[in-house]
Amino acid sequence: MKVAIIGAGMSGLICARELSSQHDVHLFDKARGPAGRMSTRRVEDLHFDHGAQYFTARDPRFQRQVEAWVAAGVIAPWKGAIGVLQSGEVSTPETNPVRYVGVPAMNAPAKRLAAGLNVQLSRRVQTVARSGAGWSLTDESGETLGPFDALVCTVPPAQAADLLCDVAPTYAAQVEQVTLNPCWATLVQFEQRLPLPLDGAFVHDSPLSWIARNSSKPQRDASRDCWVLHASQSWSTQCLEQSPEEIAPQMLAALAAATGLSLPRVAYQTAHRWRYSIPPEPLSVGCLADREVRLAIGGDWCQQAKVEGAYLSGLALAEAVTQWET
Ligand SMILES: Cc1cc2nc3c(=O)[nH]c(=O)nc-3n(C[C@H](O)[C@H](O)[C@H](O)COP(=O)(O)OP(=O)(O)OC[C@H]3O[C@@H](n4cnc5c(N)ncnc54)[C@H](O)[C@@H]3O)c2cc1C
Repeated sequence: MKVAIIGAGMSGLICARELSSQHDVHLFDKARGPAGRMSTRRVEDLHFDHGAQYFTARDPRFQRQVEAWVAAGVIAPWKGAIGVLQSGEVSTPETNPVRYVGVPAMNAPAKRLAAGLNVQLSRRVQTVARSGAGWSLTDESGETLGPFDALVCTVPPAQAADLLCDVAPTYAAQVEQVTLNPCWATLVQFEQRLPLPLDGAFVHDSPLSWIARNSSKPQRDASRDCWVLHASQSWSTQCLEQSPEEIAPQMLAALAAATGLSLPRVAYQTAHRWRYSIPPEPLSVGCLADREVRLAIGGDWCQQAKVEGAYLSGLALAEAVTQWET
């Protein structure tokens, strides 16, 4: 079959990898690189993992993949000191699982998966239409892509609902019910090391929810103190339409308050708005699939709100498509 996959995040890439030996697979992503919410922001020679911070592996299928990536040097355990910050007090998290990160940056596993696949980047799929028994797509320049025998859609649910509302209204209505929380991220490099005895922390009672010393992750430039700060869901929602220039100073002030430290001078700062970050109530179904029209829809929001969930949804998507052959 000729299969179109919209979205080259973890779920779309895994689905493509699973199908590519048997099918003619075409991946489309609007971004300049693969990885989606596992992307890395590069600013001159600074790198920030501004989306997913680390991932854990509990399902045996994902554990096997993680072992293979570790062996291939694509990911490594992050051994930084992780704590909990609340009102200036530091405590230990309840659990301390092995936390993996891509090396030298979080997008490494996605880049590895994309190698050798037919991935068209900077291709935003604008519309989806039925074409005979299959599907055709158009991109934002109006170019037609296809026809394809099967369609796999792995974009966040609000965007999936927009694409599918005319051609699969029942699925679009179901998908539209699933929300993803927004998240503001501030990326900062300090001129001197922030004197905090932690490399990452879950933050409570603050506009922030998480902070990480990006430069403490393996194979990063440890000589420059780079941090990623994530705002809480409620603060991000409240401030969603502010500009990055307004957001970054407020999140830095929140960092000073949460740590009780006076911050070193800032060498670089910016903020990134994730309009869609984490699904608070994922569907836990793996994927949605319609054999009649050969349409499958998935992503972390169909499984679990994390990298592992996206991986497992990618497997479920591939399994569904494989069954359509018979
Ligand atoms: C701020 C933040 C922090 C996170 N922290 C963690 C963490 O610490 N640990 C963890 O395990 N997980 C974390 N996550 C979640 C994790 O990143 C996701 O679960 C996972 O990456 C989702 O993968 P996906 O393939 O389902 O979706 P995505 O990665 O969102 O992939 C969807 C892709 O579709 C593309 N796309 C969208 N619309 C179109 C279109 N019209 N045409 C073409 N392409 C399109 C996008 O560019 C994107 O690449 C975090 C996410 C965010 C944003």
